[in-house]
Amino acid sequence: MTFSQLNISKDFVKNLESLGYINLTPIQELSLNSSLKGKDLIARAKTGSGKTVAFSLPLVEKLRAKEFKVQALLLAPTRELANQIAQNLRLLFRHIHNVKILTLCGGVPFKPQVVSLSHQAHIIVGTPGRVLKHLGEKNLSLDFVETFVLDEADKMLDMGFFDDIEKISNFLPKDRQTMLFSATYTDDIKLLASNILCNPLFIEVENEEKNIIKQDFYELSDSEKAQNIKKIIRSFEAKSTIIFCNQKITCEKLADILFEDGLDVLTMHSDLEQKQRDETLILFSNSTYPILIASDVASRGLDIDDVDLVINYDLALNSKIHTHRIGRTARAGKGGVAISFYTKDEQSRAFEFKEIFNDIEFKDSKTIRDNSNFEIDLGLRAIFINGGKKHKLRKIDILGSLTAGIGLHKDDIGKIDVLDFCSYVAIKKDKLDFVLDRLNKTKIKGKYYNIYEK
Ligand code: ADP
Ligand code: MG
Repeated sequence: MTFSQLNISKDFVKNLESLGYINLTPIQELSLNSSLKGKDLIARAKTGSGKTVAFSLPLVEKLRAKEFKVQALLLAPTRELANQIAQNLRLLFRHIHNVKILTLCGGVPFKPQVVSLSHQAHIIVGTPGRVLKHLGEKNLSLDFVETFVLDEADKMLDMGFFDDIEKISNFLPKDRQTMLFSATYTDDIKLLASNILCNPLFIEVENEEKNIIKQDFYELSDSEKAQNIKKIIRSFEAKSTIIFCNQKITCEKLADILFEDGLDVLTMHSDLEQKQRDETLILFSNSTYPILIASDVASRGLDIDDVDLVINYDLALNSKIHTHRIGRTARAGKGGVAISFYTKDEQSRAFEFKEIFNDIEFKDSKTIRDNSNFEIDLGLRAIFINGGKKHKLRKIDILGSLTAGIGLHKDDIGKIDVLDFCSYVAIKKDKLDFVLDRLNKTKIKGKYYNIYEK
């Protein structure tokens, strides 16, 4: 089925097509006919199945841009995920002008959110704790909400948000559409659903792409693990790799070892400040860093595209975490590889996983074929510009200064990310010095900025 066959506006179909959305994914196909009519929905589907578009379509269609009231509330477990949803929504709303989407998440200053709220918004995307705090202080009214979405509901409950979600739902009008998405359908999800949904349609999308992820398991002692990383990445010629560790300290230790070995690595775990985590995500997804070492904070919800390889440096503590980790690869039907290390002590858990994921192969690490011809470097470097949206900079301004301004060829420029107060641009490695030298002396949209390497 294609998006043009849905009962949505022509402009919207055009916008979807311009974003590369032509055919519906299974979850979209199963849910949209009902959800576009306003029906409540519970959907169980694994990561990468296209849930964001599934829940966004009904609310985009329903929204009245001329009414400056909060018409939709979306809750997500983490700030990263909330930001991704907001970004996706902005793209999906491209054909409608002046739609204000506000994110309300913890880990960032509270006051600026209060100011933003006083200017009104159409859509709120947030984490439960922070949204509830604003409700408690009467900064936010949900009296006109028509659509309520819970994304990654199981993760929100794992994080202890059950009560907060219920409290938030009490602020919402009874007459509304509620859509709940979850990778698992456990008893606490059922309980939550029975409290906040009304006659929901229940849909499940089976893991039909399961076999696309090739899984190899290696038994290694803790001291043998690090020396196999480079070999594995080169043998699979992986351009982007996420390595999962169970503990923050392991992430940092491994990062040091790989760095000594000449690899460019990023780390992502909860000890890092939000700003650093945002930057990490950008530097990984703009292909300037090929390796991200992460604890499980990063393993859910994040739509990091094109991860070729997942390495479980530490075996996940349970099969649920394992599922979410390996879901970073083979997104939206692309093939992927997941490698897992386990120690002798973890043998029984590794065998348990084998029962659940029957496509696991146990192998001897001596059989890994190193491919030293493959260079673990994508040839791109990131530059940082200390100006962003708040300085009225847009991608096109930065692109203009790089091309017309200093004479760089378009092909030497990769992804450009413009944040509120700064921007990042991926540049071909051999052009880096040139860009740093010239761009510091060139105006971008009439002003000089500080440019440096990241
Ligand atoms: P989920 O929330 O289920 O984990 P996402 O909504 O993040 O998955 O979607 C995963 C990827 O699939 C995204 O990169 C998204 O742009 C892409 N995608 C979603 N729907 C479609 C579609 N109909 N056609 C092509 N790509 C799609
Ligand atoms: Mg999602």
